[in-house]
Amino acid sequence: MQADSIDTLYRLIDARRDELVALTQDLVRFPTVNPPGEAYQPCAEFIGRRLSRRGFEVQFVRAVATPGDDDRYPRINVIARRAGRRPGPCVHFNSHIDVVQAGSGWSVEPFGGLVKLGRVYGRGTCDMKGGLAASIIAVESLIDAGEHLCGTLEISGTVDEESGGYGGVHYLAERGWFSAPRVDHVIIPEPLNVDRVCIGHRGVWWAEIETFGRMAHGSMPFLGDCAVRHMHAVVECFEKDLYPKLAARLTDMPVVPSGARHSTLNINSIHGGQAETAGYPAPCVPDSCRMIIDRRLLIEEDMDAVKGEVRDVLERLVAERDGFRYNLRDIFEVRPTMSDRNGPVARTTAAAIAQVLGRPAQFICSPGTYDQKHIDRVGKLRDCIAYGPGILDMAHQPDEYVVIDDMVNAAKVMALAARSLLQGAG
Ligand SMILES: [Zn+2]
Repeated sequence: MQADSIDTLYRLIDARRDELVALTQDLVRFPTVNPPGEAYQPCAEFIGRRLSRRGFEVQFVRAVATPGDDDRYPRINVIARRAGRRPGPCVHFNSHIDVVQAGSGWSVEPFGGLVKLGRVYGRGTCDMKGGLAASIIAVESLIDAGEHLCGTLEISGTVDEESGGYGGVHYLAERGWFSAPRVDHVIIPEPLNVDRVCIGHRGVWWAEIETFGRMAHGSMPFLGDCAVRHMHAVVECFEKDLYPKLAARLTDMPVVPSGARHSTLNINSIHGGQAETAGYPAPCVPDSCRMIIDRRLLIEEDMDAVKGEVRDVLERLVAERDGFRYNLRDIFEVRPTMSDRNGPVARTTAAAIAQVLGRPAQFICSPGTYDQKHIDRVGKLRDCIAYGPGILDMAHQPDEYVVIDDMVNAAKVMALAARSLLQGAG
């Protein structure tokens, strides 16, 4: 790219710094909390109206009959597409518009969009409305630069990422919105820090283990069989056998933070025994105990083997422990995904980071999943990364914020990367 045309782009984006801040504030003021899926429609329409004024063809797609979709909380996605004067590749920026609950511990109004100390505060500023705003300003500036762009630019605002993406990217990917030849390269502006290119994520398996016992009077536990003690035996086996095994596994994926380069297993919850009634504990031997596990997989691991490992623990207890009975139920699973760091979108974005920030980009993978899984598995589109201005550690926290300088820099990186990709850098 010519140095003077890079300068033009930088100048255009710098001149729109206040507009970028205002756009982020506008987006944050839609309380798109999921669950239940609040304010999706007005937020999607706001994005659609803005982009249609810039010559985008805008479509709204309701993910009918997906989890949570009803007339009160319709799952509305917005996709905006702008074709250049000549045919060429399509670069797509995909952001989720849903945010997690505000929760407690805030010192500012969570949906107010306060600007302070060079930051915009609010739920979703970091994850990921700041990224969405940066991508909109990037694309609009590219259009304003007035070059004869070939190829197509797309921006989408999709829902339900925080609950698995079934009413958002998954629904759209099943219907061809994230597949060739419609789309060639995807950038997801998730918060993974302004100087890092995220090429994929670990997998996940959520499951419920239930142990069974037999009810009896609490004063004569020997007449019953305690399901909580059986669950304790499960946890003990995890401690002695499974956890050391998982900690010994190390992936080649560049996952951050580095603790997540090992296989991990979280015990999300354990519930055993009868519930209290009006504050009075039940005087019974528990006949059931349920545990939810959250197992994160490395790309080198096989989903069936991961499940088998847990089932082996349980089967061993059946063989060795009197009265041990269990049920193992799948809740949710996603396989790990990783795109090629030498692929067009990763390489181009890394080059743009080096250009804008004057230091080399870092390639990383995310410890948790995001919508790349659907684009890869369902859309069969491999050339996808996550890149955005938010600071990873700020996501889902009270007093969440995004740094304005990072948004401006990310917008420059996105604009340069998109332009290279449209010019056929792939
Ligand atoms: Zn996110």
